[in-house]
Amino acid sequence: MRVLIVEDEPKMATFIAKALEEEGFALGRVTTGDEALEALMEGAFDVAVMDIMLPGPDGISVLKHYRQKGGKTPILLVSARGHVSERVEGLNAGADDYLPKPFVLAELVARVRALGRRTPEAVSLVLRVADLSMDTITHEVRRGSDVIRLSPREFRLLEFLIKSAGRTRGRMAILEAVWDYHFDPGTNLVDVYIRRLREKIDKHYEPKLVQTEKGVGYAVRNPQA
Ligand code: CA
Repeated sequence: MRVLIVEDEPKMATFIAKALEEEGFALGRVTTGDEALEALMEGAFDVAVMDIMLPGPDGISVLKHYRQKGGKTPILLVSARGHVSERVEGLNAGADDYLPKPFVLAELVARVRALGRRTPEAVSLVLRVADLSMDTITHEVRRGSDVIRLSPREFRLLEFLIKSAGRTRGRMAILEAVWDYHFDPGTNLVDVYIRRLREKIDKHYEPKLVQTEKGVGYAVRNPQA
């Protein structure tokens, strides 16, 4: 079982790591909210133990963001504060369990073990167009057998266009869905990102999937289908 430890205090992180290592778990360690989100999105862990007070976005923000993106890895929140309201906030944000500090290591280990057993059969939702596939859970994107690395925003853009099932979407609809803009910022943001997507998913491959409809917008579809 692979466990991600998100903790900014070195002593506490080492304390937790030792206990989990003794149980034979493989560990990953990060110290900030941003690193935590990145590590979680990579989908390489079965369980995460995450402190709430972190540099950058705190544990609850990371959790909310991760769940909004469809992340399913069970997360045990750990907090020094331990107020009832925080526990409720954490569970509402999508935590699977909550442990106030200070805690007994045996309890932490037992809870991590329990969460690991609960790991759902990876429910993967894979979207496909021609030989392009995108896994909306693990965020793995492939063209043929090549793995393609997209930024989170590029991923959202591609996902939105694929879910539009070949329909052409206007810039405004794209801005709303991908950037949450409800006004026209008067920039060529969409065009810039479309260009980046093309570089990554179309440039070296056939058929070209990102389609431009002049004066209307963009679509992702298989032109041969
Ligand atoms: Ca902390």
